[in-house]
Parts: sequence; structure tokens; C-alpha cells
Amino acid sequence: MTDIENLFARHKTCVAHRRVHFDLAARRDTLRRLKHAVHTREDAIIAALAADFGKHPAEVRLTEILPVYQEINHALRHLSRWMRPKRVMPGLTMIGTSARLRPTPKGVALVIAPWNFPFNLALGPLVSALAAGCSAIVKPSEMTPATSTLIAEMIADNFDPELVAVVQGGPDVANALLAQPFDHIFFTGSPAVGKIVMAAAAKTLASVTLELGGKSPVIVGPDADIAKAAKWIVWGRFFNAGQTCVAPDHAYVHADVHDEFVAALYAQIAKMYAGNAALAKIINARHWDRITALIEDAKAKGATVIGDTDRESRRIMPTIVTGAAPDMEIMKEEIFGPVLPILSYDDLDSVLGQINDAPHPLALYVFGGKSLADQVTAATTSGSVGVNLTILPFIHPNLPFGGIGNSGMGAAHGKHGFDAFSHMRPLLRNRFIPLPLIFPPYTATVEKL
Ligand code: NAD
Repeated sequence: MTDIENLFARHKTCVAHRRVHFDLAARRDTLRRLKHAVHTREDAIIAALAADFGKHPAEVRLTEILPVYQEINHALRHLSRWMRPKRVMPGLTMIGTSARLRPTPKGVALVIAPWNFPFNLALGPLVSALAAGCSAIVKPSEMTPATSTLIAEMIADNFDPELVAVVQGGPDVANALLAQPFDHIFFTGSPAVGKIVMAAAAKTLASVTLELGGKSPVIVGPDADIAKAAKWIVWGRFFNAGQTCVAPDHAYVHADVHDEFVAALYAQIAKMYAGNAALAKIINARHWDRITALIEDAKAKGATVIGDTDRESRRIMPTIVTGAAPDMEIMKEEIFGPVLPILSYDDLDSVLGQINDAPHPLALYVFGGKSLADQVTAATTSGSVGVNLTILPFIHPNLPFGGIGNSGMGAAHGKHGFDAFSHMRPLLRNRFIPLPLIFPPYTATVEKL
């Protein structure tokens, strides 16, 4: 047996023998232990993310640590209600029965995390798995070694490895894990690897939650509050150096407000990123080369590009591409970097057509009045819609977070995350079923039904 097979077998035995924490008190205790483990390592988490890709300490708090606390606190507050079996009304045909829906832990869960929010996106799904009463094996990203090692140590110091274990490594390790018959796989990453995960899950019939990515468009209408739109879009696009799954990827801006909007973008960039102290690095040289190649292609095809790059420090300063067009490479793949292409439009229908011709985005943002927002929402499909804001649908504790089609399937966060790791098990009791008409010999009454 390999180490991974052995670890999985131990988890399976533990679940089968009901030695994982099924009751409310035990689940709460586990969540509190996780919270304490994070609490005592905040400085180490900040240092690890600085080492991995130069993330600003405040950004680490806002986007890596606080969301994990929010997820834990929310689960602690609501877990008793989430776990309670829900009564289901019988309807006429089921009179004499009583029905309950009982959330049951799926069993052994696998969490595979990406590098862009390596702490939050490994620990967030783990909170949901533990709240649901599952045991879990977590594979963090190999691209953020300092953070992944810290997560591994933190978990090993605080949990029985048969309840939570961290396995580090790249695609080979991920594939060895995926070959095990997990009861649920929660994957966050690219659509390309999402397909590999789903194909592996098909072999064992594991259920999957896929949190994927793609190009999330923004529409800025003629009636938008331009200063506010620029502020939200600059923040959403450039924090984490644009390496954010729900970042606004490109903006369709109405021709009447185009120049005013571009000027407002530069004003916001100057305000938020003066000196670039808050700007994270690009994760590695390969991604730096990929993003700068997209910029060069846009320039070569006639776009105007403003923003500096420096390969040695792996920085790309907030970059605006005006005059972007659909034939540019930058409009064909998820940018995942601090670059915002702007496309001027006159005809909203043609913008909606372009959005609908592309794979369903994870997020769609609209800046403008209610009628524009309603029109865009009704005419398109996306994981979520943000109106006059960016990113926040991801943070809302009571909204499901997830994509559709190429941007993912299933949902995360709060009760929705709990549900992902639970099987809603129907329990039907015979109390006094009055007419057992269903049993033969069948009577004439049944024939007339
Ligand atoms: P990725 O798909 O390359 O890697 C994600 C995980 O899969 C890593 O743990 C990695 O080790 C593993 N992996 C990579 N190649 C594999 C293979 N061939 N077989 C099996 N496992 C493999 O993604 P990434 O580069 O880490 O993250 C960026 C992508 O993730 C972007 O597309 C982004 O939009 C998406 N993302 C989505 C969300 C969301 O919540 N929807 C959040 C963050 C990132």
C-alpha cells in the first residue's frame, strides 16, 4: 500500500466505525480547535504569504484570515439548526406517514486547493467538511510552499490524522489522491484541471463540487456613477495582483462615458497603488511571462497599454488596456493578472451577445441603474451577479458561491458548503397508513385510480 492508500484506508475505517465526530458538540469542538490553530498562527500566515508572493499583510488579513474566521463563526452559530432533521409535509398520498430530511455526513472528503488564496481556499472548504461531520484530506497548492507547509504543520499539530490530514504535492499527488474512492471531492482551480477531477470522480462515483474560473465581465452603463464604478473595479481587479477568480476580467464601457471612466480608473490606481506597496507579486515567472505576452499581443494588435512590468521582482503594475478587441489573446483566456482591458460599446445587445457566446462566467458585474442591471441579469447566465460593486457576492455568508458550466458546479460557503458535504437523507416512518391499496390482490378501486 502507498502512503496515500494507507491514509485513505485509515480515514475510511474511522468513518465506517463512526469514530469521526458526528454529534453537534464534537463538531463544534473541532471547529473551535481550528479557529484557535489559526488564531495562534496569524503572524506566521502573514509571513508565509509574503514569502510565497509578496502579499501585503492587510490583504492577507482581509482575504485569507478573516474569511476563514467568518466561515468558522458562522458555522458555530448556525450548525445546530443546519444539522436538525427538517420535517417534510406528507401531502394527500402520504397521509399516515411522517417524513424527515436528515443531513448526513457524506464520509471521507478530499479538498484540493489552488495557489491564489492558498490559505482561505484550503481552510474554507475544510470548515464546511468538518461542520458536516466528514473527515477530510486536504491537498494545498504546490505553488505556495510556505503557506502549504504551514497549513500541514498547523493541522498535524491540532488534529488526529484520521480526522484531518494534509498531503502536499503537485499533480502527481493530486492524481494519486483522486484515484481513492472519496465520498466527496471539493476542488477549487482551473476549468482544465476541473475536467481531470471530474473524470477521476466518475471512476469512483464520488460527488464533486467544482469551484472553477474563467473570464468575468463588467458592464459600465451610461448612467453609472463613474467615480464609484472605477473605485470598485480598480479594487476588484488589482488586489492580489489580479490573481482572483471573481475579479472583473474585462470591462465593456458605454461610449458616452468611456473617456471619463478611463480617467477615473487612473485616478483610483494613483490613489490605491501609489508606490505599489499594496501590490502582490505574480505567483511565478511562467505566469509573469504568460500575462506580459497577453499585453504584448494586445499592443501589437493596436491597443493602448499603460502600466509597467518588471520580471526580476515578478511585478506587473496595474495596467489598463484601452481599445481592446475580441480578436486579441487577452480576450480569449482568463487574464488572472493585474491587467484590465476596456472595450467601448454603443449597442448593449451586442455586448450581451458576446457574453452569451462565451462560457458562462463565474461572476458578472453591472454598474448602472436598476433597469440596466435587470436587463443584463435577465439576458445572461453566470455564477453570480454584482450590481454597483465587485467581489462581495463571494464574501456574503448567506449566499451560495459557485459557478455554472465552465465556471463550476455546486456551491460553497456557510449552509451551502455544509450541504455540499452532506447527504440529505429522507427518513419516512409509517405511523398509521390507512389504506394499503398498493398491495395485491388489487381491487377494482385501484384499477380506477
Ligand atoms: P490549477 O487548476 O492549476 O490547480 C489547482 C489544484 O489542482 C492545485 O492543488 C494543483 O496541484 C492541482 N493540479 C494541477 N494540475 C493538476 C493535474 N493535472 N491533475 C490533478 N491535479 C492538478 O489552478 P491554480 O492555477 O492553482 O488556480 C487558478 C485557477 O483557479 C483559475 O482558473 C481561477 O479562476 C481558479 N479559481 C477558482 C476559484 C473559485 O472559487 N471558483 C477560486 C480560486 C481560483
